[in-house]
Amino acid sequence: MSEINMPTINKTLEALRKNNMQAYFCKNSEEVLELVRSLIKKGDTVTHGGSVTLAQTGIKKLISNGDYNYLDRSAAGLTREQVEEIYIKAFTSDVYLTSANAITESGELYNVDGNSNRVAAILYGPKSVIVIAGYNKIVHDINEAVERIKCTAAPQNTVRLKCNTYCAETGKCVSLEKDGSLMPDGCRSAERICCNYVVSAMQRKKDRIKVIIVGEELGY
Ligand code: SF4
Repeated sequence: MSEINMPTINKTLEALRKNNMQAYFCKNSEEVLELVRSLIKKGDTVTHGGSVTLAQTGIKKLISNGDYNYLDRSAAGLTREQVEEIYIKAFTSDVYLTSANAITESGELYNVDGNSNRVAAILYGPKSVIVIAGYNKIVHDINEAVERIKCTAAPQNTVRLKCNTYCAETGKCVSLEKDGSLMPDGCRSAERICCNYVVSAMQRKKDRIKVIIVGEELGY
């Protein structure tokens, strides 16, 4: 477990604000729930990307409480077609909740996606995007973010999702076997989860993206 480092967290929050994102720090999941409740209005259409962090913080339970029009992509009995419909409806939602694969100290969000419904919704569509991330997602810069995904996030997510990939077997991306591995290098698996690589830097729509950094280790 890495040490929580408040100067680094504060530097990151300040950089996110300079990039036109709202940025908050919450000590724990209880504070996250209180803050998220204040950022969503009753009756809002709400949905989310796939995320271990949202389950760990109790966000899924919160948005299932009947106060919101929750588009639940993991509801029992949904066909693949119905799940895809929810992905499309996400673009007109009021609030989209997600985590981030990494957040740089310079205030950029870095997300890598296979199906890519999550990165698409972060980029465009939902009126408000709320990103919740444990302090363990903070990295120095984009190079470190790329490494974090190849060595930590992707291997653990492919194991969780039971994907047949090199990193699920070995704990790191196949691209790291090469000298001078580049961001888009990777495996040729049909179940590859790294297909689109998105950096969210300064935003033109001020405050559309809200980032909550939590003083707990969350997600991968
Ligand atoms: S490209 Fe393939 S091997 Fe590399 S991290 Fe992504 S899923 Fe794993």
